[in-house]
Amino acid sequence: MEENSKPSFYITTPIYYVNDVPHIGHAYTTIIADAIGRFKKLAGYDVFFLTGTDEHGQKVEKAAVEKGMTPIQLADKVVIRFKKLWEALNISFDYFIRTTQSFHEQGVQKIFQKLKDKGDIYKGIYEGWYCVSDETFLSEDVRLENGGHKICPDCGKKANVVSEECYFFKLSAYQEHLIAFYQKNPTFVRPQSRMNEVVSFVRQGLKDLSITRTTVKWGISLPDDPAHTIYVWFDALHNYLTGTGYDRDMKLFEKYWPATIHLIGKDILRHHAVLWPAFLMAAGFPLPKTVYAHGWWLKDKTKISKSKGNVLDPHIILRSFGPDPLRYFLLREIPIGLDGNFSHEGFIHRVNSDLSNDLGNLVQRVLTMTTKYFDGKIVDIGAEEAEDTHLRNGYESLKKRVYRYYDKYSLNRALEDIWTFINSVNRYLADNEPWKLAKDKTQKKRLGRVLYQSSCALHVTAYLLYPVMPESAEKIWRYLGEDRSPGGESFSSIEFDGLKSGQKALQPEPLFPRINLKDFLEEEEKTQVVPAEEEKMEFIAFDDFKKMDFRVGEILKAEKVEGTQKLIKMEVSIGTENRTMVAGIAEEYAPDELEGKKIVVIVNLQPAVIRGIESQGMLLAADVDGKAVIPFFVEDVPAGAKVR
Ligand SMILES: [Zn+2]
Repeated sequence: MEENSKPSFYITTPIYYVNDVPHIGHAYTTIIADAIGRFKKLAGYDVFFLTGTDEHGQKVEKAAVEKGMTPIQLADKVVIRFKKLWEALNISFDYFIRTTQSFHEQGVQKIFQKLKDKGDIYKGIYEGWYCVSDETFLSEDVRLENGGHKICPDCGKKANVVSEECYFFKLSAYQEHLIAFYQKNPTFVRPQSRMNEVVSFVRQGLKDLSITRTTVKWGISLPDDPAHTIYVWFDALHNYLTGTGYDRDMKLFEKYWPATIHLIGKDILRHHAVLWPAFLMAAGFPLPKTVYAHGWWLKDKTKISKSKGNVLDPHIILRSFGPDPLRYFLLREIPIGLDGNFSHEGFIHRVNSDLSNDLGNLVQRVLTMTTKYFDGKIVDIGAEEAEDTHLRNGYESLKKRVYRYYDKYSLNRALEDIWTFINSVNRYLADNEPWKLAKDKTQKKRLGRVLYQSSCALHVTAYLLYPVMPESAEKIWRYLGEDRSPGGESFSSIEFDGLKSGQKALQPEPLFPRINLKDFLEEEEKTQVVPAEEEKMEFIAFDDFKKMDFRVGEILKAEKVEGTQKLIKMEVSIGTENRTMVAGIAEEYAPDELEGKKIVVIVNLQPAVIRGIESQGMLLAADVDGKAVIPFFVEDVPAGAKVR
């Protein structure tokens, strides 16, 4: 198909607050968007996927002051947290917008001016209860506490009365327009229950909205009234226009706007379903097709957030599992609109049962038998019998259902159906017992048919999984000797017997190694890290330093700790005695390159038990982006010599 004849599909995540610590909640929204975007590409759409960061506002300003930085220096530093996470999660966004980019600021100023000229923005005085922490005026219906003050319902902190000159947006003038729009577009907000919530909110009446501040300096100022800074929501929402080229590349903008789907968390529904369409109506832009509000991941029944201190760092899971198990778990566990409860137990259970047992083992068995019985060649021989046809037909109807589910954003249903198919392939193998056929020379053709049929089933299964698990899908195709990538093939072209006869398969590495929950939790505890930018230098007294006994240690023996990725167990001589030590350095050093090396060891540290081994000391190593670099002595120094 010609590039420009494809229908366009524009999907967004919210722009994340740059001062936040990225957690499972951010990852969830972005993974949903990525899976939908990847599916739409397979389905023949010209997809534009936008994500980014919201970088203005009082919290960034305050945090920067505390760290002795300018706000932009802080933003430049912490935006990396999000970019790194998206890389680790294999997120294929087309553009990453930062609201501090000058084209965004200019675009917002231009739209502001347009609305002001039109009379939809006017100057007035606003007085209200204001939460500094959330940078928001409390809604009028928050009740007064005993003592005559108000408490912010979002963060529980005390609010102040703030009165200031500001610009207002005439939101009240759009109440009827909005209601008419919702009536004409009943699927504008999804799921349906959220649409009802929005309609009844708007019916209660809309007040004009203050959209500038004089108290906040870090933001987009008004060119002709520079004491005023544009309020964060008016600033942030317009990223959906500027991010796809508004005012900078109008051709690109017109190609993709209006957005097909804004994916959001349900906590920012009103901003997206009330304010945003009103701003767009006022400025004369077409309105987005759908605002889809997903649920929250809860930890111990509480929403995950920085202020609650229960942030789940996805990096810990990603280091042990790679991106696909987390992508799979978050999309499989709950439908997009509902809340889910996140636990490591639940996660590991799913990974072990669905990914390791059902899928990983299947790939392993089929390809091992292909290697053993057909020298790795996938051969299309033997007649197709009824049960073989059953598998083929099963795929034909599965493909249609999965397409429909992905298309309706019912990602969990698509995955459920794919797993039913995977289990039918497992049953097919159990029923046909190829390992027994292999013992009978007269059954060679039948054996070939059974393995061919199973390989074809894996080939199409991997394809259907690609939107959710792109890395694993690509691996399975490679193992099957496929030189194409599933991401480059259109949905309509994937037939059941897409494998060429004679194609050479590879002996695969285990796709999803089983992980023991206890081991994972131990590893997690050890790797809980504070983000580097939040570390504070703390001084210790010289007397404290003197207490630490550093010695030269000689590594006598080193070996990997079985069942771990990172741990090495060493026998280290510290002159007077030998010590057993365990260190997380196996990814950087091979055991035999360590033997005979001399290192710095702290010898009077309380022993720690790691994987059941008592580690009686700790070696010193530099931490370079999470990789250990050990300083070795070049000179010939005796083991046990003091280091100070
Ligand atoms: Zn608050």
